[in-house]
Amino acid sequence: MSNPLAWIDDAMQDLRDRGLYITIRTVESPQGPWLVVDGKRVLNFCSNNYLGLANDPRLVKAAKEAIDRLGIGPAAVRTIAGTMSIHLELEKALAEFKEAEAAISFQSGFNANLATIPAIVGRGDVIFSDELNHASIIDGCRLSRAQIVRYPHNDAQALRALLEEHRGQYNRALIVTDGVFSMDGDIAPLPELADLAEEFSCMLMVDDAHGEGVLGHGGRGIVHHFGLQGRVHIEVGTMSKAFGVVGGYVAGNRKVVEWLRQRGRPFLFSSAMTVPDTAACLAAVQILQESTELVDRLWENTRYFKEQMRNLGFDIGQSVTPITPVMLGDEKLTQEFSRRLFEEGVFATAIAYPTVPLGKARIRVMISASHSREDLDAGLEAFAKVGRELGVTH
Ligand SMILES: *Cc1c(COP(=O)(O)O)cnc(C)c1O
Repeated sequence: MSNPLAWIDDAMQDLRDRGLYITIRTVESPQGPWLVVDGKRVLNFCSNNYLGLANDPRLVKAAKEAIDRLGIGPAAVRTIAGTMSIHLELEKALAEFKEAEAAISFQSGFNANLATIPAIVGRGDVIFSDELNHASIIDGCRLSRAQIVRYPHNDAQALRALLEEHRGQYNRALIVTDGVFSMDGDIAPLPELADLAEEFSCMLMVDDAHGEGVLGHGGRGIVHHFGLQGRVHIEVGTMSKAFGVVGGYVAGNRKVVEWLRQRGRPFLFSSAMTVPDTAACLAAVQILQESTELVDRLWENTRYFKEQMRNLGFDIGQSVTPITPVMLGDEKLTQEFSRRLFEEGVFATAIAYPTVPLGKARIRVMISASHSREDLDAGLEAFAKVGRELGVTH
């Protein structure tokens, strides 16, 4: 008999042949503006640690104290062994921060989407989904067994036409979109989507993983940015990006949140976040609740870096967030650019097909509040050098 796992060798070889094999670098230091990566000290231009909270002493202290008080694990799913008070505290703090009626936490943002979508739509229902939505939204939609209608990226007019065509044939309907699209840094036209949701009697859900801690007053997210509190039923958030820890949540309408406590499968069938994660997230929310300092610094750094990159002659796309795609186009050139940057002490990832369309390869720079002006200047110098060397700029 042949080896039943032999297909893996073939599939792996296929990935290598097509340039899609992923090599994962090893980080040997705490997360921060500088990292030790594969033994080399490099400037960190690729993490989602927007506010530098991943190694913030206040979060570390909160996690340690919580361990001393409450231990590590929640020991079972919350519906069976009882929910720990610290999870409820976090949910209350998140709802207050987001100015939402209620919030519920999950183990991750990915799980929040998997919990939410199948709980609110099913067979006989329809989902209108932006064509560039995150993988976890796509998977959540598929799990739901509702009809999925993809609409052209950020195109509210095209969505209206699709709503007119399809809405009437289904029972419940959901419009779902990423808040910030992480490859280009553009944002969803949420006010138009809210109008359409109301006109066509749809539920409205936004996944604000990259908007949390970034957009809106003091980082309250895209709903706050557009002043749409109360008009977006479901805001999915993650605590693994700007909040610097791990975990996901849904903030929004109280009925929806209560329903998810009854019917969100990752809530019912998977244990909650650990005690130190939860305590660290709580500390992160409190820091953001008390001061806009980190978010202000993030934007100051973003403005400075983008302006300098444009002055150097780079095409940095249409981003309206700290995500800065340095558009290079060619896949091989982009790989080479990233490799040369690493040699120059800058860790910035090449992003290419199939994550973005063919011919639209780019280096994605992620700016953080933790970067000092000197850090940004060091990064700019490396971009200038490699850009000239590879004939991208002059
Ligand atoms: C990163 C991301 C997620 C996943 O969040 P985790 O908490 O890391 O699981 C979900 N949705 C979007 C849009 C994201 O960018």
